[in-house]
Amino acid sequence: MKELAALNKYFYKYRKRYLAGLLFVVISNYFAILAPQITAYVVDKVQQVLPGYVPRPLAPQIDPLVRAFVNWVETSGFSFNAIIALCGVSILVLALIRGLFMFLMRQTIIVASRYIEYEQKNEIFGHYQNLDAVFYKRNNTGDLMNRISEDVGRVRMYTGPSIMYLANLITMIVLSLYFMVKKDPLLTLYVLAPLPILSVTIYIVNNIIHKRSRKIQAILSDLTTDAQQTYSGIRVVKSYAQEEAMLRAYAQRSDDYRKESIGLAKVEAFYSPAMWLLIGLSTLSTIMIGGIYYLDGRITEVGVLVEFVMYINMLMFPVMAIGWVAGMIQRAKASQGRLNELLVTKAEVHDEAATMPKESLDSWNGSVSFKEISFTYPNTGITAIKNFNLTITPGEKIAIIGRTGSGKSTIAQLLLRMYDLQEGNILINNHPIEHYAVDTLRSRISYVPQDVFLFSDTIGHNISFGKDDASETEIEEAARMASVAGEIESFEKGYETVVGERGITLSGGQKQRVSIARALLKPAGLIIFDDCLSAVDAATEKAVLGELGKYLQDKTAIVITHRIFALMDFDTIIVMENGSIAERGRHADLMEKDGVYAELFRRQQYETTVPATDA
Ligand code: ATP
Ligand code: MG
Repeated sequence: MKELAALNKYFYKYRKRYLAGLLFVVISNYFAILAPQITAYVVDKVQQVLPGYVPRPLAPQIDPLVRAFVNWVETSGFSFNAIIALCGVSILVLALIRGLFMFLMRQTIIVASRYIEYEQKNEIFGHYQNLDAVFYKRNNTGDLMNRISEDVGRVRMYTGPSIMYLANLITMIVLSLYFMVKKDPLLTLYVLAPLPILSVTIYIVNNIIHKRSRKIQAILSDLTTDAQQTYSGIRVVKSYAQEEAMLRAYAQRSDDYRKESIGLAKVEAFYSPAMWLLIGLSTLSTIMIGGIYYLDGRITEVGVLVEFVMYINMLMFPVMAIGWVAGMIQRAKASQGRLNELLVTKAEVHDEAATMPKESLDSWNGSVSFKEISFTYPNTGITAIKNFNLTITPGEKIAIIGRTGSGKSTIAQLLLRMYDLQEGNILINNHPIEHYAVDTLRSRISYVPQDVFLFSDTIGHNISFGKDDASETEIEEAARMASVAGEIESFEKGYETVVGERGITLSGGQKQRVSIARALLKPAGLIIFDDCLSAVDAATEKAVLGELGKYLQDKTAIVITHRIFALMDFDTIIVMENGSIAERGRHADLMEKDGVYAELFRRQQYETTVPATDA
C-alpha cells in the first residue's frame, strides 16, 4: 500500500471535503437503516388486528428516533388506517433524506477526487516538461500519454469511488449488524454467511472482466495506431498502391478485436444473472431460516423477519462493492506505482550547479568555447563527438559543414544543453555551461532545428512562439527576413492561417522558413541554424541568405549545413568528420589547402544547376 501513500498529501489538502463526505455517508446510511424498523412495526401492527393476536410490549431493540415516532403515532389517537399511512409517508421521507445526503456525499468525495485528478495531471505534465532528451528517447509517446490519462484515471477510482464505497460499506455493515445482532445474533450469523461468497465471486469475476478489457484496450490502441498511420501516410500508401494490404492488416486486427469483445460480452452476460442469483439465494435463506425460527417460536414477530430481509437487501450492494473496491484499489496501486516511478525520475540535465544569476546572460553576445569535448549518446552508445575544440567570439559567423552523421547537430544539442557532457567543457562567457540555469541558457539561444516542428496553430503564433509579447509588425518583420512573408500574405487569412492537422499544409521549404522566422524573432545572443534551408530551391536560398546576411551582421551565428553557401562570408568554416574537426579556416584558405572542403565544394559546384559563381 505504500505506493498509495503518495496520495496522502492530496487527502490532507482536501481533508475538509473528505470529512464532510464521510459524515454524509454515515447520515445517509443511518436514515436508510430506519426504514426496515418502521416496516417491521407496520407488519406487527397489521398482525395485531388479525385473530389470535396476543398483545406484546414494543420490542426494546429499536432506534430511539423510530421509538419516538412510534410513541407519537400510538399516543396521538390516530385511526389504524392513519397510522399505516403515516408510516408509509415516513418511509418516503426517510428515502428522501437519504437521497439528499447521498447527493451531498457524491458532491464532496467525488468532487474532491476530480480536483485531485486535475492536480495530478498538472503535476505529471509539469514533470514531463522538465525531463530531458534522454528520457524522451527511452520512453515512447504512447506510454507517456497513458500515464497521464489512464493511470491518473485509475488512481481517481481510488480517491473517489473506492473511498466512497468503502465508507458506505463500513457504515452500512456496522449499522445493520448492530440492529440485527441486537434482535437475533444466531439468525444474523446464518443470513450473513453467504455474503462473503458473493464478495469473493465478484472480486474474481471482476478481475477476469478487467483483464479482458485491458487486452481489448491494447488491441483497440493498435487498431487506432494502424488507422492513424494509414491516414497520415496516405500519400505513401496510395502511391505504392498498398490500400489492399493495409486493409488486410486492419481487418486482421479488427477481427481480433471482435473475438475478444464477444468473449468479454459472454463473461459480462454471466455476471449479472449470477449476482442476482446469489442475492436471491440470500433472501431466500433469510426467509427460510427466519420462517423456521418463527415456527419454532424463537422469534415472535413476523416483523423481525421482514426487517431482516430488508437489511439483507440493503447490505447486498455494499457487499458487492467489496469486490469492486478491492479490484479498484489494486489497480490504483499499480497505477500510482508507475506514476511514483515517473515522478522520482530526475532529469539528467539539471540546475544543481547553476550558480550564475538569472541576469548573467542578459548581455551575452555569443562568446562560446568548446574545450576538448567528447560525447557519447547515453541511449545508443554512439560516440558522436570526439575531442572537439572551438572558440566562438562575439559577432563571429561560423559554418559547420560535414557529411551526414558527422556530429553537426550534436554540437547544437550540446550547446543547448539537451545532454550533459561526458568529457571536456563548454564555456559560455568564460563560465562552464553547467553554471547557468537551463532556462536562462536556452532563453538566450535561438535555434532553428533540423527537423521543423510547427504547432497546429496559426502561422503568427508559430512565429511568435519564443516571444509571447511580439507585436504584429515584429512577426511580419521576422517573416520578411526569413523570405516567407510574401507567401504567408498570399494566404486568404494571412498570419491567421492555421497550419497542421486541421489547417493548411505548408510545403517543406515554407515550413523551414516559418521556423527560421520563429528563431529570428526570439531575442538571443547566439543563433544556430541547423540545416534549415535543405528544402528550398537555390533562388529562395539566395533570397533568404541575402536577408539573413544583413540581419546577422552584428550577431553571433552558427550555421550548420550540407551545402556551401558562397554568398555568406563566414569567419570560420569547420569541416567535421566522424565527430572531430577535420579542417578549419576561411573559404579561401580551405580552397587553397585542397582538402576535404575543396573536394566538397567542387563536387557541389558540379552537382548544382545554379553555378555558385552566380551567387
Ligand atoms: P546530418 O547532416 O544528417 O544531420 P549530423 O552531422 O547532424 O548529420 P548528428 O545528428 O550529430 O549528425 O549525429 C551524429 C551521430 O550521432 C550519428 O551517428 C547519429 O546516429 C547519432 N545520433 C544522433 N542523434 C542521436 C540521438 N538522439 N540518440 C542517439 N544517437 C544519436
Ligand atoms: Mg544534423
